[in-house]
Amino acid sequence: MDPGEGTRSVDRLKWWGWGEEGKSYPLDDRPNAWPFLNQILGLSGSERSPRLTLDQIKLRKSRADERLIIELQRIVGKENVSTETRERLVHSMGKGYQDLIRVRRGIVQSPPDIVVYPASEGQVATILECASQRDASVIPFGGGTSVVGGVEARPREEGGLLLSLDMTRMNRVLAMDPVSLTAKVESGIMGPDLEEKLNQAGYTLGHFPESFEYSTLGGWIAARAAGQKSTRYGKIEHMVEGLRLISPTGTIATRDVPASAAGPNLKQFLIGSEGIFGVLTEVTLRIHRYPDRIEHRGLLLRDFSSGIGVLREILQAGVNPPTLRLSDSPETRAYAALLRRPRKMTGRLKTRLGMWLMKRRGFSLQSSSLLIVGLEGSEAQVAEQRRIVLAKCREAGAFNLGRGAGEAWYRDRFELPYLRDVLLDRGVMVDTLETATTWRNLENLYLRVKEAIEEAIASMGVKPYVMCHVSHLYKDGASLYYTFLAKQVEGREMEQWREVKKASCQCILENGGTLSHHHGVGLEHAAWMEGEVGRKGKELISAVKSTLDPRGIMNPGKILGTTPEWRDP
Ligand SMILES: Cc1cc2nc3c(=O)[nH]c(=O)nc-3n(C[C@H](O)[C@H](O)[C@H](O)COP(=O)(O)OP(=O)(O)OC[C@H]3O[C@@H](n4cnc5c(N)ncnc54)[C@H](O)[C@@H]3O)c2cc1C
Repeated sequence: MDPGEGTRSVDRLKWWGWGEEGKSYPLDDRPNAWPFLNQILGLSGSERSPRLTLDQIKLRKSRADERLIIELQRIVGKENVSTETRERLVHSMGKGYQDLIRVRRGIVQSPPDIVVYPASEGQVATILECASQRDASVIPFGGGTSVVGGVEARPREEGGLLLSLDMTRMNRVLAMDPVSLTAKVESGIMGPDLEEKLNQAGYTLGHFPESFEYSTLGGWIAARAAGQKSTRYGKIEHMVEGLRLISPTGTIATRDVPASAAGPNLKQFLIGSEGIFGVLTEVTLRIHRYPDRIEHRGLLLRDFSSGIGVLREILQAGVNPPTLRLSDSPETRAYAALLRRPRKMTGRLKTRLGMWLMKRRGFSLQSSSLLIVGLEGSEAQVAEQRRIVLAKCREAGAFNLGRGAGEAWYRDRFELPYLRDVLLDRGVMVDTLETATTWRNLENLYLRVKEAIEEAIASMGVKPYVMCHVSHLYKDGASLYYTFLAKQVEGREMEQWREVKKASCQCILENGGTLSHHHGVGLEHAAWMEGEVGRKGKELISAVKSTLDPRGIMNPGKILGTTPEWRDP
């Protein structure tokens, strides 16, 4: 697609939830889902949490004056500057629980005054110049799927102008190098467009976050994202060979080389900068030949603890299957409750037989741990991955659920975010948080954080349901990804969520985890950054910001903020 072509994603996306208008999570053929949710959360089934319609939402009037609008129109073209309500609303915040709770009620504290869509690096640089002259804050915006407040504007000072810089017109694959296996790509490209172009030429990037369909390359790099195949392909920061960043004081371009000893690693310092230094425009990515074979299967491990041991042994045996995702027993139970009922009689009989066999072997979907295994590569590589993974699982006495269970997970792997909207409609608090630590500390951290979340939820008088999976594996450790649910405490929804956030961040830092393995810092984690990197570490980040952005116009408040940004109404 040429820059600017096609419908803008904001026109077809829900402003109040996940994905495209009209698409929802199908619960009709999942007969166990609501009985399960009602039981674990103590719901009566009559809870409802209504949302406003678009025309009921009143945004603060745009403060952009005629002169600024004309100046920006001159840079990017008339149709690429907007002060329309829907566009300003969609660019007001990301897709975290806090965001959705507020936007559904029309609480939009900080809408941008103007949304601008550049189509080239030159335009980005000129827009930054224009914003500097006006002291306007610039908030780079990719897909807007941040869950940590990364795209929510904060003025530099009360009443300051806010400019959302939507990067999605910069969406071209500029070059591919089949010799070095690299591709030069503009940063506003959406996941599916990038992967399609690479696939057409016989390649893949191997980066599939759950938000893949609606997030961009620039957003992934700015937030240090991780995809569902990271155990083989790495996190996004491992996929970047070189990049270009336009800051208010100039351009930084790192060299397209595989490695370098020329001083500290500048590229890695810019990766994860969440728009506070400048705008990522062009990136050289490491790509891979499209695999000959991709296969998935499911297994049950007796419990989470033995499963963690199996994962560690697989990684330390030197194989890297793309996906090894181990759910604890609460997540396994939830997964089972959300299974579709087989349409045909043969399918139902097969399921019953499977359940019977499972029970005979002493496994149960109530207490065991589900392991999804994804293998990928050449036929020989997949055979090697399969041999080692299955051998380690067999040694631990795992029950093989077969290919069907794995393929079903793979098919539906981008569906779960739609369920969140259904749960929010029914008055359920549902959110996720994540961290990472060493293998030695993994089980300790898992238990401590789980307890902290449960206690925080229970302290408000409702039943917690906390589940977790281990994914994104390394030789030395892994990430823990929690999903927590509870009945919303009416009128105190934000406070309820905030208690969980405070307790979990504190607990993670006290118990040897990182504040975030892949969601980033944004506004939400900024208050704990000193705990993560220390005072000097924070000063160093501030010093770099002062050099690149002395007026502080780039995405104020993110990463370096000092007080918790609760964004309460
Ligand atoms: C349902 C759901 C599932 C998710 N699953 C995952 C997952 O599996 N893995 C994962 O890592 N994350 C996940 N996320 C979080 C989010 O999708 C990621 O952080 C993603 O990387 C954000 O990409 P984006 O294009 O939407 O960026 P945005 O949300 O638009 O921006 C994120 C940050 O990057 C900055 N930014 C964006 N573009 C640029 C640019 N070109 N230059 C400089 N700064 C820029 C923004 O200012 C902001 O600070 C999920 C979120 C949701 C809502």
